[in-house]
Amino acid sequence: MTREPRKTHVIQGIGVTPQIILGKAYLVDRGKIEAPARVLPENQVPREVERFREAVEESKKQLRAAKEKLLQEDAVGPTYILDAHLLLLEDKNVINSTLETIEQSWINSEWALKINLDRLRKIFNSIDDDYLKSRKTDLDYIEQRILRNLTGRGTESLAQIKEKVIVVAHDLSPADTAQMAKDKVTAFVTDVGGKTSHTAIMARSLEIPAVVGSETATHSINTGDTVIVDGITGVVVVNPSPEIIQEYMDRNRTRQKIERELFLFRDLPAETLDGFRVNILANIELVEEIPAVLEHGAEGIGLYRTEYLYLNRKELPTEEEHFQAYKTVVEAISPRPAVIRTLDIGGDKFISHLDLAEEMNPAMGLRAIRFSLKEPEIFKVQLRAMLRASAFGKVKILLPMISGVSEIREVKKALNEVRLSLTAERIPFDPKVEIGIMMEVPSAATISDILAKEVDFFSIGTNDLIQYTLAIDRVNEYVTHLYEPLHPAILRLVRQMVKAAHDTGIRVAMCGEMAGDPLYVPILLGLELDDLSMNVLSIFRVKKILRAYTLRECRELVETCLTLSTPEEIEELVRASLHRKFPDEFRDLFNSKLPGNS
Ligand code: PEP
Ligand code: MG
Repeated sequence: MTREPRKTHVIQGIGVTPQIILGKAYLVDRGKIEAPARVLPENQVPREVERFREAVEESKKQLRAAKEKLLQEDAVGPTYILDAHLLLLEDKNVINSTLETIEQSWINSEWALKINLDRLRKIFNSIDDDYLKSRKTDLDYIEQRILRNLTGRGTESLAQIKEKVIVVAHDLSPADTAQMAKDKVTAFVTDVGGKTSHTAIMARSLEIPAVVGSETATHSINTGDTVIVDGITGVVVVNPSPEIIQEYMDRNRTRQKIERELFLFRDLPAETLDGFRVNILANIELVEEIPAVLEHGAEGIGLYRTEYLYLNRKELPTEEEHFQAYKTVVEAISPRPAVIRTLDIGGDKFISHLDLAEEMNPAMGLRAIRFSLKEPEIFKVQLRAMLRASAFGKVKILLPMISGVSEIREVKKALNEVRLSLTAERIPFDPKVEIGIMMEVPSAATISDILAKEVDFFSIGTNDLIQYTLAIDRVNEYVTHLYEPLHPAILRLVRQMVKAAHDTGIRVAMCGEMAGDPLYVPILLGLELDDLSMNVLSIFRVKKILRAYTLRECRELVETCLTLSTPEEIEELVRASLHRKFPDEFRDLFNSKLPGNS
């Protein structure tokens, strides 16, 4: 693909963090390299052998340098991973066999390497030992490293970025995004992804301005280009003129002024004009987010996504690591509650060392509670740590992707075993820890009256509820316009779940991205959710809107909305209502829109 010259142009993507930033672009090559296959004339074979040897030597050099760096940083733990990779680069079965294949079959290095590694992968697969099986990923890793050196594409880690840059990549994993927190990445732009993909959620949590789903960023931005990333509108301006830069900077100043004014809402109660009180809670992914949670006056943690404890590492976290993370969160937020969710892996969140099968349809596969129940030993480590942390504050356990009653009963059995073992070991825990479930699968919503009798609270996960109900892949930028929180089907399901919860006397929260979008506040109030859990950046806006309404008018609004047939009609009504309340500030308050809204 030819690159465009350095002239000003605009790319439209999906804004995920309400911030604007100006900086230098840095193009990150994140694609998997496929091995090309070529047969060689005999006279080229010796040169090919040399080429392969050089790539292996270069790979070793890079790994040794990485190890050296880790040692300098006193990070002794992960160096053994690099040692394992270095050993593989010395291994006869990998290196000598590949050299023999090149010499005997007269084929290129990439192809010969693949043939030999495929053979080894097959052997690893047939071993009846999960640990050894999982070592297969080490083969994949060294294969990619050698391939990168053979093809001259090099390797780069986001953790190695030293200068302040705006990362531009085709795709970034949630793990990549998590790594950015420690680095100097001031913003990022990706070709793929939707507003509620986990990469986008992570960006919001870490307050990294980002635009996802731009489709073409990697083709039209070069390293070194000056770019403006507008995480509010999703616009990326490449090589802007001085006038455009000025315009954006002015806008940014206005935005910052508004943010300062919104800060006044920090200590005001989240209460409607007629005294209906809602709890405003925070969603977090990392312990590092706690200071921001406290700064924004959240009334607790409504969703702690623990899967990030498992990412960016080769081994499973130990019980002690889980415990330390949970204890830190629980103590910091105490006496307010912390809802800690059990592992929700799968879907668009992957952990390499768990070696999940490549599924045709990961969002509907072995994800979340399904994985935990299949791997009870991994699950119980987490449950033990959660219960142990409950001795230090108010812990509530949340189970993701529940689709029916049997899953809850199986979890309760596992929890009882964990309780018994902790009691036998005289380890303290709160015997009354509440158990709640994510309401994010349509089957759960449909039988919410039955499920409500089994648990202490509901938490509605609209990101997945919308994905599964409307059959829209939440990470696919091509269907993002169909992702409609105000779809009558979604409103009906939410109403049904709230009713089931309240009829049974349990609380019902919403923790999907819908809960933090200012546009939906009157609807969520009218639907009478008890708790709204959101990214911290949304808290002040949501409070401001909530305090301008009465519960009565919101109920009436919902009743009218439920008589309408399309999301567009509903949205028009909601926008009209908000416009009446905030005629002067409308644009600034509601500029952070979910896709599909005009
Ligand atoms: C959801 O699905 O709405 C949710 C909060 O969970 P996650 O985004 O982690 O799937
Ligand atoms: Mg979910």
